[in-house]
Amino acid sequence: MTPINPPKSLDQLTAQEIERKANIGKIVTYTLGNLTSTYVNEGFQWLLPVVLSQSTDPLWPDPNASIETRIEVDIYGKPVRTMSSMIVHKLIAASTVYPKLFILSPNVRIEKSERGKTGKHIYEFTQLDFEIQNATSKDVFLLVETALCTLIKALKKDMKEALSAIGRFDALPTLEGPFKIFDREDLEAKYGETWEADVASEITQPAWITNLPREFYDFEDFSTGKWDNYDLIMPQFGEVLSGSKREYDYAKVIKKMEQHGVRKENYSLIIQMAKEGRLKPTAGAGIGIERIVGYITGVRHIAECQPFPRVPGIVHEL
Ligand code: AMP
Ligand code: MG
Repeated sequence: MTPINPPKSLDQLTAQEIERKANIGKIVTYTLGNLTSTYVNEGFQWLLPVVLSQSTDPLWPDPNASIETRIEVDIYGKPVRTMSSMIVHKLIAASTVYPKLFILSPNVRIEKSERGKTGKHIYEFTQLDFEIQNATSKDVFLLVETALCTLIKALKKDMKEALSAIGRFDALPTLEGPFKIFDREDLEAKYGETWEADVASEITQPAWITNLPREFYDFEDFSTGKWDNYDLIMPQFGEVLSGSKREYDYAKVIKKMEQHGVRKENYSLIIQMAKEGRLKPTAGAGIGIERIVGYITGVRHIAECQPFPRVPGIVHEL
């Protein structure tokens, strides 16, 4: 594979590159409008994000995590972290005031510099992060399938000019649900460690992967050792979404935090709510906006979809 040139900052673009960037920008705008409309029409409440908090996603243990620096500062005499994901906020919000919610949530993850070359990692990105009280994984699958099939159909109808200008109109397949579901254990047995890339290169429609061992808040069936969680893989691209049915049982939450060596003092609220039976069963997921737009546009690096590229290892003035 030829190396991927990192996307340039706006001031460095040629006239031709400006035109391309503008077309990608139109597709981003359309995608945000279409996806948020679907969620609002399905009865979700749209919450505004927070960026600094005592509690954020531990991103551990997740075999895909690769964080170089965790940003922690003191404000008003208390330590806060930049948001790696609003998972804790989502679980508490969905258990109390907002049973169906979504957030366009800016996430800061200072990925290792070598990830600058994957074309799939940036150090600031946005998730369409959503959570639903009393939902199952199946409910989430159906919702996401509807949202993505609707989006691609609408893009091919309304954004033909922009998609054609960047050479992606014909190559972008129309999607049709339900998407196939694979168990990670079966894929590992078949392909070994490279299962994700192998599956992505073989499929022609998106596919769900279930049963992925990772953070404490994803649901694990202790009797079978299976995880009721999922990733969505796009053809010729890879992961664009991760999600799960959630843990809400106090004993299980504590046991997993201890097993994973997670600092319980950062999660005292969620622990307290679980103890009091106030943490409700929920399910949800986060869709990486730059990933889904990266898939739609077929860019070499998803940072091309950002006005101000956040490539691991490269810090521009803007
Ligand atoms: P996670 O729960 O950690 O898998 O994050 C949820 C989603 O956010 C992923 O499925 C990706 O679509 C997106 N995402 C995670 N990390 C990055 C990153 N470094 N750059 C771009 N998108 C990311
Ligand atoms: Mg993931």
